[in-house]
Amino acid sequence: MNIHQFDVIVVGAGGAGLMAGLYASRGAKTAVISKLYPTRSHTGAAQGGISAALGNLEEDRVEWHTYDSVKGSDYLGDQDAIEFMCQEAPDAILELEHMGLPFDRTAEGRISQRPFGGHTNNETGKPVRRACHAADRTGHMILQTLYQQCLKNNVNFYDEYQVLDLLIENGKAVGVVAVELSTGELHTFHAKSVILATGGHGRIFEVTSNAYAYTGDGAAMVLRRGLPLEDMEFFQFHPTGIYKLGILITEGVRGEGGILINGNGERFMPKYAPKVKDLASRDVISRAIYTEIREGRGINGQNYVYLDVRPESVIKYAALDGRTNLDGSPFVVTADELLKKLPDIVDFNRVYLGIDPMTQMMPIQPTAHYTMGGIPTNKFGEVILDDKKTVLPGLYAAGECACVSVHGGNRLGTNSLLDLVVFGKYAGLRAAEYANQVEFENLPTDAEAGARSQFDALRHGSGKENVYDISREMKKVMFDLVGIYRNEQDMLSAIEKVRELQERYQHVKITDGGKVFNTELINAWELGNMLELAEVIAVSALNRKESRGGHSREDYPSRDDKDWLKHTLATKQADKIKIEYKPVVITKYQPKERVY
Ligand SMILES: Cc1cc2nc3c(=O)[nH]c(=O)nc-3n(C[C@H](O)[C@H](O)[C@H](O)COP(=O)(O)OP(=O)(O)OC[C@H]3O[C@@H](n4cnc5c(N)ncnc54)[C@H](O)[C@@H]3O)c2cc1C
Repeated sequence: MNIHQFDVIVVGAGGAGLMAGLYASRGAKTAVISKLYPTRSHTGAAQGGISAALGNLEEDRVEWHTYDSVKGSDYLGDQDAIEFMCQEAPDAILELEHMGLPFDRTAEGRISQRPFGGHTNNETGKPVRRACHAADRTGHMILQTLYQQCLKNNVNFYDEYQVLDLLIENGKAVGVVAVELSTGELHTFHAKSVILATGGHGRIFEVTSNAYAYTGDGAAMVLRRGLPLEDMEFFQFHPTGIYKLGILITEGVRGEGGILINGNGERFMPKYAPKVKDLASRDVISRAIYTEIREGRGINGQNYVYLDVRPESVIKYAALDGRTNLDGSPFVVTADELLKKLPDIVDFNRVYLGIDPMTQMMPIQPTAHYTMGGIPTNKFGEVILDDKKTVLPGLYAAGECACVSVHGGNRLGTNSLLDLVVFGKYAGLRAAEYANQVEFENLPTDAEAGARSQFDALRHGSGKENVYDISREMKKVMFDLVGIYRNEQDMLSAIEKVRELQERYQHVKITDGGKVFNTELINAWELGNMLELAEVIAVSALNRKESRGGHSREDYPSRDDKDWLKHTLATKQADKIKIEYKPVVITKYQPKERVY
């Protein structure tokens, strides 16, 4: 057996994992394990920005950021955690700046900020410039900066090791088992603290902005160990994915003045959100686009609409909206200026569609984007087990795989990158602190047994089922029946289908018997995770009989605070999903109707 011992093990090398690794390594012997080379993590794809009420360009306040996030979450977010995150935000940004992150600058040399959906001046209700950015490559810069800091601090990295199992002994987390992808060998990592930072699971859906690696490994491992997952019914559909491809077109495009146009050539968002229009929350805009399409106003009757950021349109609509420069002069912009702010977006359109967004409109449709639910934690990243917030000693989670919950029913754009750096940091600090107080627990006897049996079952499967077919069917059924709009009948069919696919999955045939980078085997293992999570998502969604945030039910169109202002906790017991609840933490902000 290959056994390694560290005080703290971090699984995942995205923004959350690197921040956790960096902070843990300052107090304890730490290793970061990642199935991808760290700088290939999905954080690197984040485009638009990271939020903080710095007020560099206009008045802004931490309380406004807090209130916007509570409101954006459709009141399901835990307000103590949201307050904490928004208070920490300005310092977190300055820390990234001091680490060397090349933020865009204002003429005076301060960190530049742009507007983003749902972020407002609470007094005027108008969009506020709160998103700090490095062109449209903010996540890329965060990832590179944090990785360099980790190298500087001698964090140990195990790159291209895929964690398969979480080890729990005597009610405490004691390590993980991973496969080394280049050899196919299993390795056991013995630890006092384990931090899961494995990202989301958008690959469950057919059209998605998420990277191939977004298969929910961490959440699935937790579920298999009998621990709960929180609010899995809440999944965010981003309004602007490239038609058919799902590739994200950042909200930053609308932040820079882009607008949405339907098949009749009309700007339609003022109908749905008269105040903030094209900068309403993502759930609101995704539903608006879907409604336009459903009512026959897609482009040429198809299921997409246009996003228009041609300079002449931006200038025209800025004038109509009364949007001016900060000194009150009329807002004008040139193609060159837009190109500087949105270089990647312009490139994506040229490369993937042969379209030039400076002279043509972009065809877009909503795309599965962000996992609001996940592994339940408190604001220190400690994994909790029940409504009494009992902590599982030694286990932590941070980033998109975790549910703190700061995003509740719907995440505001730019709040995820913030979530990574704030809660990644505290998870790292807590994990190291805990590791320094306790001794190593013994590993379970035959620690690798669970991982080995999962792999053996796949390797020796003799059936005829094909991984690709099952995967495609799962993605389609989840996108069509458990997507932007949901109803009981559709979800019952989806659950039946997912269970059928789970059964067929028992009979998949792997043709590659090799050990070196056996991607066929790994893809099959990841599909197993997604099938388990798809069931939890569909069952949790069927159970929640109301509409809130990203969870929109045609048969229960209103939010129901009387019965449903509570978090879902789903566990898997004897092959059945069991649902329990946890109260929402409310501090200052009593639930109100969301008006845009
Ligand atoms: C296209 C796109 C654009 C976005 N833009 C923005 C934005 O502008 N602003 C914003 O706030 N948010 C944005 N988001 C959301 C945000 O980027 C993500 O939520 C966030 O980066 C997730 O970070 P993470 O550290 O949790 O996960 P990731 O960065 O995805 O890292 C996950 C890590 O876990 C590792 N891993 C996973 N499974 C295993 C396993 N089994 N074994 C070992 N390692 C494993 C991976 O190798 C990887 O290193 C965007 C998301 C997308 C998809």
